[in-house]
Amino acid sequence: MTEPRVVVCGGGVTGLTAAYRVAKARGTGAGITVFEASERFGGSLVTVRRDGLVFDGGADAFVAAKPQAVELCRELGLGERLQETRPESRNVYFLRRGRLVRLPEGLVLAVPTRFLPLIESPLFSLLGVARMGLDLVLPRRSSSDDESIGSFLGRRLGAEAVEILGEPLLAGIFSGDPNRLSMAATFPQLVELERKHRSLVLGALAARAKAPRPKPARPPSAFLGLQGGMGELIEALQAKLRELGCELVTQAPTERVERGERGLRVTIGRAGGAEVVEAERVLLSMGAGGIARAIDGLVPEAARELRKVPHVSTASLLLAYERRAVSHPLDASGVLIPRSERRECSAITFMSTKWAHRAPDDVALLRVFFGGHARPEVRFMTDGDLVQLAKAELAAVLGITGEPIAVEVFRWNDCRPQPVVGHNDRVKRVRELLGKQPGLFVAGSAFDGVGIADCIRQATEVAKQLVS
Ligand SMILES: Cc1cc2nc3c(=O)[nH]c(=O)nc-3n(C[C@H](O)[C@H](O)[C@H](O)COP(=O)(O)OP(=O)(O)OC[C@H]3O[C@@H](n4cnc5c(N)ncnc54)[C@H](O)[C@@H]3O)c2cc1C
Repeated sequence: MTEPRVVVCGGGVTGLTAAYRVAKARGTGAGITVFEASERFGGSLVTVRRDGLVFDGGADAFVAAKPQAVELCRELGLGERLQETRPESRNVYFLRRGRLVRLPEGLVLAVPTRFLPLIESPLFSLLGVARMGLDLVLPRRSSSDDESIGSFLGRRLGAEAVEILGEPLLAGIFSGDPNRLSMAATFPQLVELERKHRSLVLGALAARAKAPRPKPARPPSAFLGLQGGMGELIEALQAKLRELGCELVTQAPTERVERGERGLRVTIGRAGGAEVVEAERVLLSMGAGGIARAIDGLVPEAARELRKVPHVSTASLLLAYERRAVSHPLDASGVLIPRSERRECSAITFMSTKWAHRAPDDVALLRVFFGGHARPEVRFMTDGDLVQLAKAELAAVLGITGEPIAVEVFRWNDCRPQPVVGHNDRVKRVRELLGKQPGLFVAGSAFDGVGIADCIRQATEVAKQLVS
């Protein structure tokens, strides 16, 4: 009996991983095609390498605590390529009233486990720290309805915690608005902490008490990367898929999915005219907007729901400087910039401090982030404008006045899904509606988690359904 034909639409890490898992389970990639709209695979994972520099333009790390990404890398033969962040980068600066201030010790996510370092830090006011301390006595929330990061942190730890920690540290991961992002969809572990322990501080202390002892001399890195950049994961996935005989097609945007004779008919836009492909199983992993357009005729209600997932645009610029031209010690992973500082960029990563092998020793490689919910104008700016702005921001924040020796600009227009309040319910509704369409599946960053490990988990789960 021949295996059902599988078509995957969208060649980001989700689509490629799902195709790989199906091919591996079958022992062959025959009958599996991945269609990607752009001219390259990888989506939000892209690495450019030139002149001894490694420029990660999108994601550069995955969370070590979620095993899926590490497992996939090992499976693909990348185990030796995995790297921890360098110990000297395991702190971060915040910009506070124009000054660089280190994040005080004792914060777990945004939850204090020690108050003295907070009192001593110029990052917080005394009143702000006192308000955080109220968490110890405040009652548990009675409602189990979803709420925003801003509402949750504001309730438990106060407005200053939202401004300084909630916005750049938590919502910043999504380039999003803390007052819109869903707590249940972004940091369910903190919701659980309140549910179980009432106080976040007491909950975090209880979790710490349970941690294995003795503590290792050097705590393991919370994030992992790949020595040649995240692009290595995409390159390895493509190589394995080709080896297994899977068909990989670029410049092939999915336009429509309909019912067909073999199950589903997928219309692919090609330079020479549209091509129709029949398949028994179809995975759509190309982002909420693209999926909504493709299923508009087939499941209009689900398409309507998906259009309600907001997306924001960002740009990341990598600038390399001769190390001696940078007087700052670059002794952290970077700088987080709260919106209240009214700067143009939202964060700067010290890439050459964070990771080994990204630049020669005499070069400082920095990444500057623009855009997000508070700065929608970024998508209308030219690359040239952004480079000028990045140089001006690096001068203002780090005192770098020289010219960079290399620059790369990466644009992420409408690429960052926003899991806003009610997101989990929306995803559930979409899945229920699609559940009535045999053979049709969705996965990816617009659904159950935006992180690389979350996308790989979703891909692995959906692959089981594609195989069964
Ligand atoms: C700048 C940036 C930094 C990030 N940093 C991190 C980080 O450090 N750690 C982390 O864990 N996560 C990070 N993320 C998030 C993470 O990288 C993404 O959520 C994840 O890679 C999404 O994978 P995906 O395959 O679901 O979607 P995508 O990567 O968006 O891939 C979707 C693919 O579908 C294609 N496509 C679109 N429309 C169509 C169509 N009609 N037909 C066919 N194909 C189509 C796109 O071209 C794209 O290749 C970051 C994201 C960005 C943008």
